[in-house]
Amino acid sequence: MKKNKIKAIIFALSFLIYLFISYFPGLDDLKSTSQDSLELTDALKVHFLDVGQADSILIELPNKETMLIDAGNNADDKFVVNYIKKLHYDKIDYVVGTHPHEDHIGGLDTVINTFEIGNVYMPKVEHTTKTFEDVLLSIKNKNLKIKAAKAGVNIINNDNLKIDIIAPVNESYEDLNNYSAVVKISYKNNSFLFMGDAEKLSEDEIMANVRADVIKIGHHGSHTSTSEEFLKKASPTYAIISAGKDNEYGHPHEETINLLNKSNIEIYRTDLSGTIVIMSDGYNINVEEFL
Ligand SMILES: [Zn+2]
Repeated sequence: MKKNKIKAIIFALSFLIYLFISYFPGLDDLKSTSQDSLELTDALKVHFLDVGQADSILIELPNKETMLIDAGNNADDKFVVNYIKKLHYDKIDYVVGTHPHEDHIGGLDTVINTFEIGNVYMPKVEHTTKTFEDVLLSIKNKNLKIKAAKAGVNIINNDNLKIDIIAPVNESYEDLNNYSAVVKISYKNNSFLFMGDAEKLSEDEIMANVRADVIKIGHHGSHTSTSEEFLKKASPTYAIISAGKDNEYGHPHEETINLLNKSNIEIYRTDLSGTIVIMSDGYNINVEEFL
């Protein structure tokens, strides 16, 4: 008798639980919504920092590693360091100094001195400025070695995540901008292209490999970069321009903006939007602006 009573209670309870679950079909929906959303922990998150007339891009990779492409001018060092600290990172796995101009490597010495650093990639070219020497010194003091940034260098090669350096193709250029390390990140179906200050000459050399959903436009939107043919081959949905408000170079140039508009490419500019964060779950792209 007693046993039967317990069985009956268990049966009744199971039935009640079954009823409860079927009464809230939303529970299942909730689960699938959160799987589709871009808040996934394995998202690729790209931060285009508002460093004025300069470049600095922090990338949170879906494998939990971090990459920093450039670190703004010398005066931006604290801003870049604090931005990274606010995201609770104490290590940068991959540092890329695209080319030795101050508006790209200025804050790099402070970043290297502050954080644990995995690998440093820079193009094989010297520059006779204190800024450049400061960066070399910070690398030396940490017993790090510079890996040459050049076409053909693979940084990550997983099934879902690939990071390659696709430029510079040649060993020597007249203009320092064309030594720019161009980084391509592919995550599942989405891809990002970071042009540094590469100009039309370098674009011509990498044309076959530039298809991307998001492009960090070369050289702050100068008309010396972003040829019509390059844009056609790349065919991006989003163009990011990193430039300072009312900068002395008139960046981004009208020609570049017109070309992007003509091609129906969505433009985001740090001089107008502040820091821009782009997230990808590998299939969908989401843009946020932080003034
Ligand atoms: Zn620059």
